[in-house]
Amino acid sequence: MDRICYCVVLEELAKGSATVQTLVVIQNSFAEVPVLEWSSEEQKKKYLPRMIKGELIGCLDVTEPNIGSDAAGMETMATRDGNSWLINGSKMFISQGDVADVAITGAQTQRGSRHVGIVAFVVERRMPGFRSRKLEGKLGLHGTAIAELIFENLKIPDENVLGKVGDGFKVLMSAMDDCRVAVAATSVGLSQTAIDACISYAQQRQQFGKVIGSFQLIQAMIADMIVETKAARLLTYKAAALMDKGKRGMPETSYCKLYASEVAQKVAYNAIQIHGAAGYFDDYPLERVFRDARAQTIVEGTSQIHRLIIGRQALGISAFV
Ligand SMILES: Cc1cc2nc3c(=O)[nH]c(=O)nc-3n(C[C@H](O)[C@H](O)[C@H](O)COP(=O)(O)OP(=O)(O)OC[C@H]3O[C@@H](n4cnc5c(N)ncnc54)[C@H](O)[C@@H]3O)c2cc1C
Repeated sequence: MDRICYCVVLEELAKGSATVQTLVVIQNSFAEVPVLEWSSEEQKKKYLPRMIKGELIGCLDVTEPNIGSDAAGMETMATRDGNSWLINGSKMFISQGDVADVAITGAQTQRGSRHVGIVAFVVERRMPGFRSRKLEGKLGLHGTAIAELIFENLKIPDENVLGKVGDGFKVLMSAMDDCRVAVAATSVGLSQTAIDACISYAQQRQQFGKVIGSFQLIQAMIADMIVETKAARLLTYKAAALMDKGKRGMPETSYCKLYASEVAQKVAYNAIQIHGAAGYFDDYPLERVFRDARAQTIVEGTSQIHRLIIGRQALGISAFV
């Protein structure tokens, strides 16, 4: 299916469960896209059919204990060992990291060389030197298994390199690019769930002898939620349509990711306000929407990072350095 259809599906899944939606996005956008776009024919045959069937669960690991927004500064090292590579380091906050069979992993070949020295690998859990540690206690997305991945002299053959040495950053960013539009679609789905709950509640809940939906302050909140969510959806479709035409690394990806994820915060916050105390409890979906939405401004580039990307594109000046 094309990316607009993908976004429609993701929005519908996120309306029911952002966790289920996340599992689909991690498998498709994070794990399969880099294999589809960067692997050799042999690698495609080896991994893609089994990943698509769900026989191989995938993840993408960029974040490290000391490295988040500045992904090019990664400290996990890949050193040559005959016709293989030895990987040492660890990756942090990796969605599906505790269950994944294959991990799309970036590592640095020359300390301090940033983007140009990074190489990407398909790492398999069964390879000696790979272990994971489940991370507990996250605020939302309770159904996803987030983990730290630890590589200790993990030996990887050349045939598991994705792209060429030095392409690694682009490989990882191709997955991020895809995933950013998916995160925007998730955010729209979460917002829509909150709006639907608010409309139904405001039509029934009575105070001062009237339904609360008759109060102009309540209507104003719902009107803003609707307009902002519709705008977020259109920005998402616009980015998806451009991706379908083959465009990558474009500002439209940041527009939709930034806007839709920030709108979801405001919508989730106000939806609890409209429900009063009832919204604070899990009889309604709002406390879950509130917790699941909170992750969306952090993953796949924080809101601050997307503002910097948009600013750099508009001004021709990078505020990253
Ligand atoms: C639920 C969840 C799932 C995740 N899944 C994955 C996954 O599957 N794979 C993966 O690799 N990672 C994953 N992550 C990690 C995520 O990608 C990182 O959290 C994100 O990149 C931000 O990095 P950080 O948390 O280290 O924050 P930091 O980079 O340390 O940033 C901390 C704060 O500083 C701000 N900041 C940083 N640099 C600048 C700057 N130049 N200017 C202004 N402000 C700045 C940030 O916006 C943020 O507010 C996940 C995170 C969460 C919460």
